[in-house]
Amino acid sequence: MNIHEYQAKELLKSYGVSVPSGGVAYSDKQAAQVAEDIGGAKWVVKAQIHAGGRGKAGGVKVVSSIDEVKKTADAMIGTHLVTHQTGPEGSVVQRVWVEQASQIRKEYYLGFVIDRSSQRITLIASSEGGVEIEDIAKNQPEKIITEVIDPAIGLRDFQCRKVATAVGLKGRLMPQAVKLMKAIYRVMRDKDALQAEINPLAVVAVGEDEQLMVLDAKFNFDDNSLYRQKEIVELRDLAEENSKEVEASGHGLNYIALDGNIGCIVNGAGLAMASLDAIALHGGKPANFLDVGGGASPEKVTNACRIVLEDPNVKCILVNIFAGINRCDWIALGLIQACNTLQIKVPLIVRLAGTNVEEGRRILDESGLAFISAENLDAAAAKSVEIVRA
Ligand code: GDP
Ligand code: MN
Repeated sequence: MNIHEYQAKELLKSYGVSVPSGGVAYSDKQAAQVAEDIGGAKWVVKAQIHAGGRGKAGGVKVVSSIDEVKKTADAMIGTHLVTHQTGPEGSVVQRVWVEQASQIRKEYYLGFVIDRSSQRITLIASSEGGVEIEDIAKNQPEKIITEVIDPAIGLRDFQCRKVATAVGLKGRLMPQAVKLMKAIYRVMRDKDALQAEINPLAVVAVGEDEQLMVLDAKFNFDDNSLYRQKEIVELRDLAEENSKEVEASGHGLNYIALDGNIGCIVNGAGLAMASLDAIALHGGKPANFLDVGGGASPEKVTNACRIVLEDPNVKCILVNIFAGINRCDWIALGLIQACNTLQIKVPLIVRLAGTNVEEGRRILDESGLAFISAENLDAAAAKSVEIVRA
């Protein structure tokens, strides 16, 4: 689960991390009010969407009057912001974050990720902040510093100093860097985050002095931990998530939209992945990933069909069930119920195996509905690709 930049900044602030003073606004008037409240002579108006690349796409504007804050907020709110991370349809800007503009001296990159090979949270830093970390990794890999954190002892001061020194932070900024890194690591651990990205972490001028400040922050939290992260769940913005994915999760279905035309209804995530592979192997493109899970009732199967069919690209549906906890007869009844209530017009290719398979096949055969049955996954995938090609 992702959160907005302003939520990430508020979270970091509660852990003692320096962020510019600012506020969220849902309208141009509110944006102007926020700017007045925080004071100063320059502000940054930032579109709040769950995607990066806003700067280049016009979603981050530095302005120097309250009137400009208002105009900029008005121009942003309600528009579809398209960045290289949103896809061509973009994301609707429902709110902006207005903050006091910072005088940036230098931008750094700071991130925490879970490195799956070492199974540890790893700190990543670079002196080349403000740009895509992927680009730095590709073009200047030597500019990326990593430090693996032992979960038993946590992030130690010496590790922070090592990383800070490697990116060129020194003097009075050093203790700030240590404090900041440790605070973000604490957020990761306390809140079950999978990823934290501060880009840029900036050295900003404060009068004659300078200070480290988080200018942009992204967090991703582990969905499997949300049951114990009530405060994080409250930050969820469903408008930023695929509406069908949200609806599916409400029905206990695990649905992920893809861009092909073969709808998939499968039980078990592994079998669902294998089904996508089989379709691809035969030259087809799946329209979705859908795991109906164990104990799929007829209602659940009907809901699955409905959600899959809401995608106008779907030209046929591949149903692949290997029933262990599930029962093929229940799946068959669910498919018939779905056909009757949804008036399905696309062909349904059905492969059933496992518990009560004979009964399941008999129910489908005797239904009088035109199911296309397949003996195995390979045949089912081949058949669906043949159908969408025809
Ligand atoms: P992103 O493009 O979605 O990652 O949005 P960012 O929040 O990272 O903003 C992009 C760029 O805008 C940053 O790298 C900064 O150079 C600039 N920027 C962001 N906040 C400020 C600010 O307070 N003052 C100034 N002058 N520039 C800023
Ligand atoms: Mn950024």
